Amino acid sequence: MENLSKILLVEDEEKLARFVELELMHEGYRVEKAFDGRVGLEMAEGGGYDLMLLDIMLPSLNGMEVLRRLRKTSALPVIMLTARDAVMDKVTGLDMGADDYVTKPFSIEELLARIRVVLRKQSALKKESAVLTCADLSVDPSRHQVTRGGREIELTGREFSLLKTLLENKTLVLTREQLLEKVWGYDYLGETNVVDVYIRYLRGKIDDPFENKLLHTVRGVGYVLREET
Ligand code: CA
Repeated sequence: MENLSKILLVEDEEKLARFVELELMHEGYRVEKAFDGRVGLEMAEGGGYDLMLLDIMLPSLNGMEVLRRLRKTSALPVIMLTARDAVMDKVTGLDMGADDYVTKPFSIEELLARIRVVLRKQSALKKESAVLTCADLSVDPSRHQVTRGGREIELTGREFSLLKTLLENKTLVLTREQLLEKVWGYDYLGETNVVDVYIRYLRGKIDDPFENKLLHTVRGVGYVLREET
């Protein structure tokens, strides 16, 4: 099974570290290990990892301190490996920005399941915040920012969701009903011509005064965002 996620394992019990490493490699993960906190922190800060598994009781710098320092500069997902019954560790770890924890002794299945959940969330987050573009139009969802030809454009919340939906489905014609469902939600009870009204607002902001129109009406079907060639 091929899986390109790279995991940093910071664990001073070498036997356990080796066991976890082999299991992770068997699942297709790439793994690098550190046996003390200071080295682990340096490696994490160096970047290039998708996830860190972080033991708490570590030589040189304990796991909590590693996490605290790491969070100043990095949002790298972290799963803490805590000792049994160390309730304080779990609470403190989550407070300090750990994404999850497993309690030792853990089953490898449980660890793998938690890793999958954290990585899936991370990839959904990346997708959600990726910048969308069409020709010289660009939408940055994480900053709620829209520009065309480098010029910033102010949109209302609804106009923004409408544009984002059209961009996510770039070159696909969306019907009024599809747009209503995606932008206004299933429970919208008004007229479908609210879509036409908002399309008009949006067009006025993103297409005028540009020559290269991006937002097109497909008569009798709906609307599409695409570059005319
Ligand atoms: Ca330890």
